[in-house]
Amino acid sequence: MSTEESQAESKFVPVEKSLLHVTDDQRQVALERCESYTADIADYLEARERIPCGLNLAEQYAQSRRRVLDVLGGTEDDWQDWRWHVRHTITDVETLAQIVELSDAEQDQIRAVEARYRWGISPYFASLTDRTDRTCPIRMQAIPSILEVQDQTVESDPETVIYNSPAPLITRLYPDRLVINVTNACTMFCRHCLRRRHIGHENVIYARKDVAQALDYIREHPEIRDVLITGGDAFSLSDERIDWILTELDEIPHVEIKRLGTRTLAVLPMRVTDGLCEMLARHGPLYLNTQLNHPKEVTEDVRRAADKLTRAGVLLGNQAVLLRGINADRHVMKKLMQDCLRVKIRPYYIFNCKKLEGIGHFRASIEDGLNIMEYLRNYTSGLAVPTYICTLPNGRGKTPVMPQYLVNINADGKARFRSWQGYIVDYDDAKRDADAAEGSG
Ligand code: SF4
Repeated sequence: MSTEESQAESKFVPVEKSLLHVTDDQRQVALERCESYTADIADYLEARERIPCGLNLAEQYAQSRRRVLDVLGGTEDDWQDWRWHVRHTITDVETLAQIVELSDAEQDQIRAVEARYRWGISPYFASLTDRTDRTCPIRMQAIPSILEVQDQTVESDPETVIYNSPAPLITRLYPDRLVINVTNACTMFCRHCLRRRHIGHENVIYARKDVAQALDYIREHPEIRDVLITGGDAFSLSDERIDWILTELDEIPHVEIKRLGTRTLAVLPMRVTDGLCEMLARHGPLYLNTQLNHPKEVTEDVRRAADKLTRAGVLLGNQAVLLRGINADRHVMKKLMQDCLRVKIRPYYIFNCKKLEGIGHFRASIEDGLNIMEYLRNYTSGLAVPTYICTLPNGRGKTPVMPQYLVNINADGKARFRSWQGYIVDYDDAKRDADAAEGSG
């Protein structure tokens, strides 16, 4: 112990009993309470054993990687090169059928879907797919289903982008923040994509002059303090293009933070190169949201990519989509949220899957999501509980949906709550300050 430390410790007063001392009776109460907590988590611990989890599947994924490399004619070095993955994006049924089991009928169905909707799977994401299991959550997100073209959904929501774009490439729905849509390109076309119309049939990186006009709009609006760069996928752009946009934003004094929207962390973690991280490190404060929807997606590759980004000072969040058959299950969702935290990605949103053509089979009800939120709250760390969001039609924005815990507030200054375990508990409220409440003070 150093001299300074021993001097500091000499100022402590030795006590016979810790200030946290409890009596035997009190200890007994605590033990009984803890037994109830252990009982409360027993079903999850049992269910968890059956949930496939990427951090436990490294060996299986390594075998699968070798098989995908054989089919595509690549090397282990190629596998680490994100450009190789982009060049070898799987877009034809014949190649896909060498990687996963596809019956003749399934192959015909994929061809029927591709006449209407684009599909493409990064070799990396294909390597996470179970070869035979049709209910594999990776397969369901990546491989077209005939249900997409059988979906008779008629959309009532006009294109948010069209009615909320005050300048080229910009979507603005809120007072102090906006989005620049820099591309429609993605490294994988998710079957549940909520921007399906924007994805279209061709990859487009939008013209520099359009981005420049979007930047001009931001310069002219000092109330904009938060800019989200997304697409498509922001990391479909070259490092040079991302660097240019971030540099321009850095030079606008009222832009306090920048955000990036990319699913590459989940579907192509090799995109997170040392060079990319070195460049991003120059542009803080920078936040990045990705989309991991099932614990199978949280792999060692994702862990490495997330680690590099956080070392570069980029703060990471996850925006999952509530998907029937994939994660609309309280145990699966809890495991996903916990595994995100294990790899330094903070759960940020869970989106209710909105009514859009071609994705109806993925939709879970608002109430299904609420039940999951109720289960997450207090059954796991608050850090693992994101905000559950319904995106309202007509560009009316992201709207949080929460289980209700406040039962009422009485006139006598008591608030009444329902606790997470269902106890009804009164709570002494502060006297209401009418002026402060009205915001006039
Ligand atoms: S990465 Fe995002 S924008 Fe691209 S297809 Fe998937 S969900 Fe849609």
